[in-house]
Amino acid sequence: MFGLAIHGGAGTLPRAEMSGELELKYQAGLAAALDAGYKVLQGGGTSLDAVTRAVMELEDSPLFNAGRGSVFTLDGHNELDAAIMDGRTLKAGAVCGVTHIRNPIELARTVMKHSEFVMLHGAGAEEFALSRGMALVPQSYFHTAERWQQLQRIRGGDAALSALTISHVGTVGAVAMDTEGRLAAATSTGGMTGKRYNRIGDSPIIGAGTYADDRSCAVSATGHGEIFIRAAVAHDICSRMRFGGRTLIDAVREVVLEELPALKGEGGVIAIDRSGHVAMEFNSEGMFRASRRAGEEARIAIYRT
Ligand code: ASP
Repeated sequence: MFGLAIHGGAGTLPRAEMSGELELKYQAGLAAALDAGYKVLQGGGTSLDAVTRAVMELEDSPLFNAGRGSVFTLDGHNELDAAIMDGRTLKAGAVCGVTHIRNPIELARTVMKHSEFVMLHGAGAEEFALSRGMALVPQSYFHTAERWQQLQRIRGGDAALSALTISHVGTVGAVAMDTEGRLAAATSTGGMTGKRYNRIGDSPIIGAGTYADDRSCAVSATGHGEIFIRAAVAHDICSRMRFGGRTLIDAVREVVLEELPALKGEGGVIAIDRSGHVAMEFNSEGMFRASRRAGEEARIAIYRT
């Protein structure tokens, strides 16, 4: 048995603003990432490799708010965050506020594997990348016209977009279980449009936006990061399973549909447990998401089905 789930953010365009053509593009983007991760697992690869592959695919797409399609800070830059965790060893790696890294998830993994630290920030993270032979990209690599326009609308005080920003975020993530029963989780993001510079969200925070523990489950979150940090969402879900005897579905629902709304926290999570059960739950209008388990068809969805 093996399985994989991915997300492309809990913030979708309201149905009314989503054209058929755009919806197809998003579905194709999700399908490509799902496929890349699935192939790794099918070939006997590790869950860590599968989540890394899937997230890199999403980072390279301009459609999602991670890597290439990252949103802008209020002062017009891109600052990227990412984290990865191995459920077998509880090893984790994270980077935040990086500005020249094409695939922050790859750097997070390198931090996990080749440093004595869990999290590196900004220039120090990039210097570490260089020391490991990784290339830097110019800031212009992250400049997409659509994200730039979104920032101009926010700067201009577009209330509709500001309200939507909370839910129009598009972070990416993946969780997987491999044939050896190992779990892994990965999350990567440009954060929230118009964020204050140096603001860091939940995605790279181990236990908030990302967590994996073979004794319970692997979780990747997306949504209003400030609330997800306060609720320690990913770790809370794992703990409800491990200490509270909840099933994966119950643990996920309690946190996403009860704990988060109580704090006005909009968003969702994807999660997989050691039996290969997958949960993809959200309290927003939609969540870009896809999953596939060994021998089953892929499931891809954006809105509530
Ligand atoms: N959670 C991310 C953050 O707050 C945003 C998102 O999920 O899209 O940085």
